[in-house]
Amino acid sequence: MRKPFVAGNWKMNTNSQTSVKLVERIASGSVEAASQSVIVAVCPPFVYLQVVAKALSSSNIAVGAQDMYFEPDGAFTGEISASMLKDVGCSYCLCGHSERRHVIGESDELINRKVTAAIGGGLLPILCVGELLEEREASKTNEVVTRHVKEGLAGLSAEKLEAVTIAYEPVWAIGTGLTATPDQAQEVHDFIRKLLGQMYDKKTAEEIRILYGGSVKPNNAAELMSQKDIDGVLVGGASLKADDFLAIIQAAV
Ligand code: PEP
Repeated sequence: MRKPFVAGNWKMNTNSQTSVKLVERIASGSVEAASQSVIVAVCPPFVYLQVVAKALSSSNIAVGAQDMYFEPDGAFTGEISASMLKDVGCSYCLCGHSERRHVIGESDELINRKVTAAIGGGLLPILCVGELLEEREASKTNEVVTRHVKEGLAGLSAEKLEAVTIAYEPVWAIGTGLTATPDQAQEVHDFIRKLLGQMYDKKTAEEIRILYGGSVKPNNAAELMSQKDIDGVLVGGASLKADDFLAIIQAAV
């Protein structure tokens, strides 16, 4: 039985005050039932991780980073390592978010190094995969997702995969207000789970959480999460509004 997981990606938003206010509202609004039966995480910008982790220290809400670098330390100006993230209270780390793939230019090889280093450093990576609009229109969704999954997880054993969550985020649905229909999302989630079954084994594929992301809102979250292979959601814009994020958590209960 896969416990539902709702994660919020704040992207490059909030400040030192609004980040704390936001999580205080989320923590006080998460009813006990939700916190027991749903895994909840927020991913603030690096510079607010510490204040957010402190504000959440007596809650069940976990903190994640939006990115990391794969080296443990050294001359890598501007980068942040897994151990630094652990040190400030992070449990999760997004790896390969589409904005990092397509705006910053990260490759599958780099993302794989990050996923591997995250696990090595005791973090739980959330590997984001998903196709561009033109790739979907050219019927290349499965091909792209296969590459992202296979290359993102290259070299990882089934045991290591226990630490990993996958987030299917069609790029055309991120921040656009367009959402994949529950059927469209389920079709890709099913495809990813079968792919993992081929790469690993049935048990591993059945146990891994696959989240959907792309314009998830309170009015579409429940239907998306009612699909057999959709184990939760990765939420961007709506995670910046406490009431919306709380409603999405409630939809996962
Ligand atoms: C995201 O940033 O991962 C995301 C899914 O954003 P949004 O919910 O705003 O589409």
